[in-house]
Amino acid sequence: MSNFFTSGDNSENKNLFLKKDEKPKDNSLDGQYNELKNNYEQIFIEAAESIRKELDTIKPENPCDGCTHKDCKIEKKDIFAPYPPTGCKLREWQMQSITYLSGDYRNKLKAAYKSIMDKKSGCECNKCGDCCKLAVSEYSYTQLKQRAMKGDKFSEDFVSIFVPYETEEEAKQVNPEYFELLNRLVEDNKIYYYHCPKVDSDNLCTIYEDRPSICRDFPHNPLKLLPSACSFNEWKNEVSHQAMLLKAKTDIIEFYKQKLG
Ligand code: SF4
Ligand code: SF4
Ligand code: SF4
Repeated sequence: MSNFFTSGDNSENKNLFLKKDEKPKDNSLDGQYNELKNNYEQIFIEAAESIRKELDTIKPENPCDGCTHKDCKIEKKDIFAPYPPTGCKLREWQMQSITYLSGDYRNKLKAAYKSIMDKKSGCECNKCGDCCKLAVSEYSYTQLKQRAMKGDKFSEDFVSIFVPYETEEEAKQVNPEYFELLNRLVEDNKIYYYHCPKVDSDNLCTIYEDRPSICRDFPHNPLKLLPSACSFNEWKNEVSHQAMLLKAKTDIIEFYKQKLG
């Protein structure tokens, strides 16, 4: 589910996170999408290398000295080698690696993600209203209501304010750039377009003090596409590399758990 919300003023915070002489990033939706797509492969390699180095720090020294498996033929003694289940210090290392990645290391990633989200407070909403006027979801309105009834808090908040557009054409008129990009990205997958009737003609929220948490917490994820006019693009531009690295590391941990578990 992807959506855009909230309110405030950001006029003084323009380019808050840009370093000296750094060119402003391309905040167009195509620019954001291309940046994520082009960088992810390299970032994935960076993440994998970083995890490999972490695990090397807990690898035992001279593990095969004194081993009783005299017929062991394992030459490449890396983390994914098929070590025997007992009597092998490197198999113990594999198991310790899973424990480490699922525990202390994951906690480090969580702390890093929290620090990314905390930096959001350096940006303020510029009241463009785009997030209130066009929200998208892979779920239909009926499906969202069903999810809400089953206790999904996000869906509950979502259906408490958003209503579906009557036609896709109406949604397209609101933000043609975003509409076109989504249609290119999702290809055959159906998506549904919504808007909030609580936004007024000055782009202000008429229930600002009572708006739900999905509005207060927007943007919820630094890797989601934001409307081009959204002032939180400055935050997103600053943290997107680190956020992609965290995402890649999280995916790699799952891979390790499956391979070594
Ligand atoms: S069984 Fe494990 S510890 Fe023993 S020689 Fe093979 S890799 Fe080394
Ligand atoms: S309640 Fe509606 S108008 Fe208010 S911030 Fe949320 S989406 Fe925007
Ligand atoms: S899109 Fe961003 S800047 Fe615009 S109203 Fe929503 S949160 Fe504020």
